[in-house]
Amino acid sequence: MKRLALAAVLALAAGVGHTESIAIVGSTVIHPELGLPRALARDSTVIIDGNRIVRVGPSKTTAVPKGARVIDGKGKWVTPGLIDAHVHFFQSGNLYTRPDAADFNAVVPYEKETERNRARLPATFKVWLASGVTSVIDIGGPFWNFDMRDRAAATEAAPRVAVAGPLISMVDRAKLDIGDPPIIRISSPDEARALVAKELARKPDFIKVWFIHQQGDDLAAQEAIVKAAGDAAHAAGVRLAVHATELLVAKASLRAGADYLVHSVEDAPVDDEFLALAKKNKAIYCPTLFVVMGYRYALSNTWQPTEIEKRLADPQILATMHDLDKMPKEKLPERVAKAMASPPQVKPSATALANLQKVWDEGIPVAMGTDAGNIGTLHGPSVFREMAIMVQSGLTTLEVLRSATTNGAKAMGREVGAVSAGKLADVLILDADPLANIENLSRIHRVIKDGKVYSPDELIRSISGT
Ligand SMILES: [Zn+2]
Repeated sequence: MKRLALAAVLALAAGVGHTESIAIVGSTVIHPELGLPRALARDSTVIIDGNRIVRVGPSKTTAVPKGARVIDGKGKWVTPGLIDAHVHFFQSGNLYTRPDAADFNAVVPYEKETERNRARLPATFKVWLASGVTSVIDIGGPFWNFDMRDRAAATEAAPRVAVAGPLISMVDRAKLDIGDPPIIRISSPDEARALVAKELARKPDFIKVWFIHQQGDDLAAQEAIVKAAGDAAHAAGVRLAVHATELLVAKASLRAGADYLVHSVEDAPVDDEFLALAKKNKAIYCPTLFVVMGYRYALSNTWQPTEIEKRLADPQILATMHDLDKMPKEKLPERVAKAMASPPQVKPSATALANLQKVWDEGIPVAMGTDAGNIGTLHGPSVFREMAIMVQSGLTTLEVLRSATTNGAKAMGREVGAVSAGKLADVLILDADPLANIENLSRIHRVIKDGKVYSPDELIRSISGT
């Protein structure tokens, strides 16, 4: 309390207690929530006061307030800040981050990796902002996730963060348990309710279930566990997110009350029953198309950074992505040795692509999400890989942008995702038209988050070498 009061006095003394206004003048503003042509508003002016957007209109009739900081928007495009609706801060994207999938403990112990990820948070936050991502949902991790959310909220150069705590899981992941496990095996509805109660004490944004259904498992018994978790979450006004990658399991999740499906259905085309259940729940669907490819590339030593990753990814992570080159053969997990001997053909799942188009056409809100933090899917610029694949599914650039803004905001549950009066001031100023080519979303002139202006290259410079 005392410290806060002192901070407020110091802020006033320094003159920063006053809210700054910003005017972005003469840009083309994109409203992804609208269809064309209304989505494009040429020669527009955006006025930000403090951390809110207060006016958006034609430059001719939108006055610039006295004393406002003017940003010349001529020849530029303004979009809402991007939202990645599926990330994990307890993972870094490097080879050492999921020993349950590929065990490199002999090279870098998992304890070291998790310590690194905690210590590296300020840099990881900056990487997200530099990539134009002003909000993320960490959809499951250790109880430490709640502290991470507090840290993001207290850090200026950080995205807004919503979180889920530990995953209510059907299976054990012993290798990830070093004291505060991200995945906890639950074998009855009572156990599910007990874990949900513990998580609710930390005010999660979501309760998350890791619904792994293996041959021989009793689907009805599993569904009862998911329903127990969902009912307990809903009673507290918290939404239920479920990992379910097979049609059968996704339908069971929706019957159990899922509000958010955090992956594509990958094993079969979605059917009428699935679509009806998703509509009934008003569920959001997050395709995460790249993450599987990221594992395949990285664990066969064929992962290559994109140009934008070279510029905006955490240099410390980039420097380790080819550590397999240096590892003695006997230290390689068998799966990795095999993949290196004959690298797989890596491409997006055709079923997932077709399902994305179908789900979109049926009007189910699709939110863009990368599952960043998994091996090969780097925090920040992997959003550009994900969105490029979404375009391959047949969605238009405007639709993909809508998934990463309007629909991401629905998942996020905050007043973000649109360039309109009353919204929080999270916007991007781009050097090129993102509707002409989705990759232009990476041509970021400035990122504005909560009314503060950042240059992506400066954000990255401020972390490199550390
Ligand atoms: Zn995930």
